[in-house]
Amino acid sequence: MRFPLSMTAGMAGYILKNKMWPRPEWQKDAASGSVAGNPFRILPSRGAEALKRQPHPMIRKRFPLVLMLEPLHACNLTCTGCGRIREYESTITERVPLEECLAAVDECGAPMVSICGGEPMMYPQIGQLVAGILERNKNIYLCTNGMFIRKRLSEFRPDRRFFFNVHLDGLEKTHDLCVEREGVFREAIEGIKAAKKAGFLVCTNTTIYKETDMKEIEALFEYLEQFDVDGHQLSPAYGYSAVDDREIFMTREDIHEKFKDVDRLFRRFRLNQTPMYLEFLKGDRDLPCTAWGNPTYNVKGWKGPCYLITDGHYKTFEDLMTQTDWESYGHGNDPRCEHCMTHCGYEPSAALGINAKLADSFRMLTWALR
Ligand code: SF4
Ligand code: SF4
Repeated sequence: MRFPLSMTAGMAGYILKNKMWPRPEWQKDAASGSVAGNPFRILPSRGAEALKRQPHPMIRKRFPLVLMLEPLHACNLTCTGCGRIREYESTITERVPLEECLAAVDECGAPMVSICGGEPMMYPQIGQLVAGILERNKNIYLCTNGMFIRKRLSEFRPDRRFFFNVHLDGLEKTHDLCVEREGVFREAIEGIKAAKKAGFLVCTNTTIYKETDMKEIEALFEYLEQFDVDGHQLSPAYGYSAVDDREIFMTREDIHEKFKDVDRLFRRFRLNQTPMYLEFLKGDRDLPCTAWGNPTYNVKGWKGPCYLITDGHYKTFEDLMTQTDWESYGHGNDPRCEHCMTHCGYEPSAALGINAKLADSFRMLTWALR
């Protein structure tokens, strides 16, 4: 990923500041057994198991790294693995007003905003939203299926802090199967070409399912090289409770197997995941979930505990931070988290240096400079 160095340095400074001086209003623990608490919590027993679940000290310094902003849940597609369009079916026609989106950006203060959905390019004021977030000196990923890039490109201005993040789950045939419509891959590629030609930064986001052939992903990245794409993100699919088809999702063991050769991809292409998170995916490192690092805001408010599962929506960001019983989530604490290794729960843990090894700082530096 071609992150501008100022962006990487800004993020490092933000993390250091919040580690040294965590904001006290976000560190209060939720009352145990509160109504907003997790009904699926696994209660720790005495002995070794309980000790194993002792949280890492860093987990008690909570602050957001990336805001997942969902201005709407409507979409022009109906992808097989999409939990959003199913979970929010009853509010699918609603939108978060522009001012409210920007207020959420201010309230949470994360240095990076991932605009997702639904299909955010269907949001009427998407150009104004991006401009408003850039005015606040934030970095932006605009996650899109790519179908409307050409149509709406003139509403944006290139900026070194703004990336189109185009969803591609494989080469043409595979991708069109995943999104259940022919022609989507081609239009997304046309969108990537148009955006690059106009001077925008463009990266891609690929979900890895049980059936994904990693050789095809390598072929996809090779194919994208001709367009000078600025980076790639890989995410293991997560089995949303809102999605019926459990067959397409992976266990932790499946994920380790799928990512065992990811180093080869990492050496050849610009992957935007940290080396530590990739080690976690390969099964070479343990990380705890730090879902508070990637909070989600949408039409119902602040979604807790995470982008993936919903036990409540909160009115304020502080409510999300202080009324969520964070320690009852993550691998070993909640059966719904058992096989989750997604970036929104675990990439913040890697970036925050939880369970760090001696060589990590050097690896982070070389990754950022690469
Ligand atoms: S394009 Fe994205 S939001 Fe739309 S259905 Fe597919 S995964 Fe869901
Ligand atoms: S482990 Fe995954 S599903 Fe569970 S809280 Fe963390 S991010 Fe959410």
